[in-house]
Amino acid sequence: PLAAAPATMAEAVAEEKGRGREEEEEKVDYDQLARELENASPLEIMDKALEKFGDDIAIAFSGAEDVALIEYARLTGRPFRVFSLDTGRLNPETYRFFDAVEKHYGIHIEYMFPDAVEVQALVRSKGLFSFYEDGHQECCRVRKVRPLRRALKGLRAWITGQRKDQSPGTRAQIPVVQVDPSFEGIDGGIGSLIKWNPVANVEGKDIWDFIRTMDVPVNSLHSQGYVSIGCEPCTRPVLPGQHEREGRWWWEDAKAKECGLHKGNVAQEAAQKLGTNG
Ligand code: SF4
Repeated sequence: PLAAAPATMAEAVAEEKGRGREEEEEKVDYDQLARELENASPLEIMDKALEKFGDDIAIAFSGAEDVALIEYARLTGRPFRVFSLDTGRLNPETYRFFDAVEKHYGIHIEYMFPDAVEVQALVRSKGLFSFYEDGHQECCRVRKVRPLRRALKGLRAWITGQRKDQSPGTRAQIPVVQVDPSFEGIDGGIGSLIKWNPVANVEGKDIWDFIRTMDVPVNSLHSQGYVSIGCEPCTRPVLPGQHEREGRWWWEDAKAKECGLHKGNVAQEAAQKLGTNG
């Protein structure tokens, strides 16, 4: 049977664009590209990502030192989008920081909020701090993973601040670019979303050198001993010499310390145990 003809010119153009995209995507071997870019600078990787995906890519900004990604994007001179997950449980300092970043760069962060009905159900049945009792997975699923999933469904690629040195247990193998193993993009299905990690090979101290050199605004929590920054009840400062992940979900086993945003990093078995499929 003949395929139904597009009703409007706009639909015909969209269809054509979609076909073009598929053809273009088929040609890219992201494992190969990751190998080619393994020694590229974060700026070069960022430039490549923005050049390739234009308006269909966005930086995931957590409100910590991943502000460096925004500075790299600015330095490319290309337009870029930024989104953040407002879990409703962030520190006041982080909200102030978001505002400072918007003003500094003249951008609007695309905030994603959790579903009100889901948060209501969780908090009414289990209280505001259920994660201390039965683990952070359920709350993270409602407040972070599902809103992230919604954000990514509108994109073809995203950019994260993940680094190998952040979590030797789960992040040691991060490539600078990969087909996202867990989330779907706008075209639907696993495999439809590309994940860029421009600072995968950069060490924390080098990120900080860059931030200071470029006079980038920083979250004031960093000056209070926070390294990794997340939700207020689940993040605490670390002592000198302690690993930054020790400041997150400190009441839980180290292996479970991925909140589901990057669950593809964790071995299949562990991911199933985490159960972050929501
Ligand atoms: Fe909930 Fe803590 Fe996860 Fe934030 S980090 S979504 S407060 S469990």
